[in-house]
Amino acid sequence: MKTMNNKDYEIEELAPGLFAIDDDKGNSTYLIEGSEKALVIDTGMMGGKIIPVISSLTGKPIELALTHAHGDHMYHAGEFKTVYLHEADIAAWRPALCLVTHAGELMFGVSMKRYNTKSFIPITGSFEFDLGGNTIKTILAKGHTPGSCVFVDEKHEAVFMGDAVGSGLSVWLWFPGCSNIHEYKESVESLLKKLEPYKKYKFFGGHRKQTREGEANYPLDFGLVNDMYTLCRKILNHDIAPKKQKFSFFTIDVYSFNAATIWTRDKQI
Ligand SMILES: [Zn+2]
Repeated sequence: MKTMNNKDYEIEELAPGLFAIDDDKGNSTYLIEGSEKALVIDTGMMGGKIIPVISSLTGKPIELALTHAHGDHMYHAGEFKTVYLHEADIAAWRPALCLVTHAGELMFGVSMKRYNTKSFIPITGSFEFDLGGNTIKTILAKGHTPGSCVFVDEKHEAVFMGDAVGSGLSVWLWFPGCSNIHEYKESVESLLKKLEPYKKYKFFGGHRKQTREGEANYPLDFGLVNDMYTLCRKILNHDIAPKKQKFSFFTIDVYSFNAATIWTRDKQI
């Protein structure tokens, strides 16, 4: 593994043709290079531009796939000609996801941007990205947002999870656009089945620093997805009590079981 340092980003070559690019706000971008084109997964949320960083790593034509429509994953979407986002997140952009995105811009202290989600190409069904010599599969993983997606790279034996089950700390289901626990349980059950063939793969989250050794609460892997399903069942069966936690003006209900943690609010159950 090679690590390169840019002023605002830490870049790690995970395997030939696969890079992780972490911004200094804890957000992760991934770059997968095929023989014909390169796919960027999420953009992070730094000031400045991310395209020069990507272009320093690949000369192939670049397309962007978003795991979901939150600002810390799509802040630089406007720099890309071709952007893919699940149709359910395009539909939920106004008001819910737009509101959360602008709140995130305030929280991270970056300037507000306009996002032309109508120009994005909708991901539907079991959409695949053919990069040439490598095809990336899509799995819908609704919950954190209505159109959250997981991307599977069989060539590199890697799964890119976005925020679908969190990055090892917790999944956030407490703000506008998130599923309630019942809906999330059904989604995680379906995700578990679809991820079964890839259970030995490496899992990469939307906030990789949360998963790293020394900083990690729990590793992000298939076991965490399994624990998440059990946790949802326990919550719905009233087998488990939440800890109350303050976050800004809000009181959050925090539920934990093994590696899985959910942040939710009373009304989301
Ligand atoms: Zn998110």
